[in-house]
Amino acid sequence: MDNKFPGKDITKEDLKTKFPLASSNNKKKIIKIDETVSFGDNHSVPIIAGPNGVENKDLIFRCCEILEKNKIKLLRGNIYKPLTFPYRSKNYFDLGDEGIKILESVKKNFNVKIVTEIMEESKFDLLKDVVDVIQIGARNMQNFPLISRAAEEKKPILLKRHFGCSIRDLLGSAEYAMIKNNHDVILCERGVSAPHTHRSSSRFLLDIQSIPAIKDNSCLPIISDPSHASFWHKWVEPLSMGSLAAGAEGLMIEFHPDPRNAAVDPLQAINFDEFSNLVSKLRNLSNVLNKKIV
Ligand code: PEP
Ligand code: MN
Repeated sequence: MDNKFPGKDITKEDLKTKFPLASSNNKKKIIKIDETVSFGDNHSVPIIAGPNGVENKDLIFRCCEILEKNKIKLLRGNIYKPLTFPYRSKNYFDLGDEGIKILESVKKNFNVKIVTEIMEESKFDLLKDVVDVIQIGARNMQNFPLISRAAEEKKPILLKRHFGCSIRDLLGSAEYAMIKNNHDVILCERGVSAPHTHRSSSRFLLDIQSIPAIKDNSCLPIISDPSHASFWHKWVEPLSMGSLAAGAEGLMIEFHPDPRNAAVDPLQAINFDEFSNLVSKLRNLSNVLNKKIV
């Protein structure tokens, strides 16, 4: 890269000194999850999908059946939830450690890999055998001790960009995992806080240009989470298609059997039919782009 300023707030010097491991000066990282699923190989686009949280065993089993039906391998299996307010609804409390048993039975019964958020260092040992990809949520993007501890697990890390942090900050956080010798970091764009053009309830704006910007500046794969970005089920499809077209190397999509009655964020999940329909539309688009949805 010859230009002095490879990305708006990222200088050529930053690539060398602030995040030499995460920078685009390195060969592009391919993060292999299993024989059929990889992030960053320039061809596959894995989908991570599931409900906002693991509400109960029946719900998560039904979601896994839909994943298998659509030949999708990665489950969103969150048992700890960073909820903005401390009050839980009547039908929901995050399952916490109790959810581990449910994730274990998911592993026994389905051919899926589990992506789950860990918020506390004390939970890594408990989840050792069930988690395949460790999610560090937006709110913990700069919790450096947590990231360093996650890196020790030697499992891929899904690092979500905080809604108020720059790409430069995100790459700094990824560097914390890489410096601990875990180079399997998948970055995730999930919307930023910004003045809204039409209504404040849309909550976040999907920063679609962060996708090519991250590719310019980093060797790490970048995926998009249109569900958290828009907070609105009707926009998940167009934003998923837009993300794929913009070069996203994976998608995180929320779906639920009865979205409007989901325990958390009932406005953002799509239903089973909408999910299957979306996967098929994404497959059509991926053919045009010479990519493969996995
Ligand atoms: C999530 O994916 O469940 C989540 C809480 O997302 P974020 O950290 O991006 O808000
Ligand atoms: Mn959420």
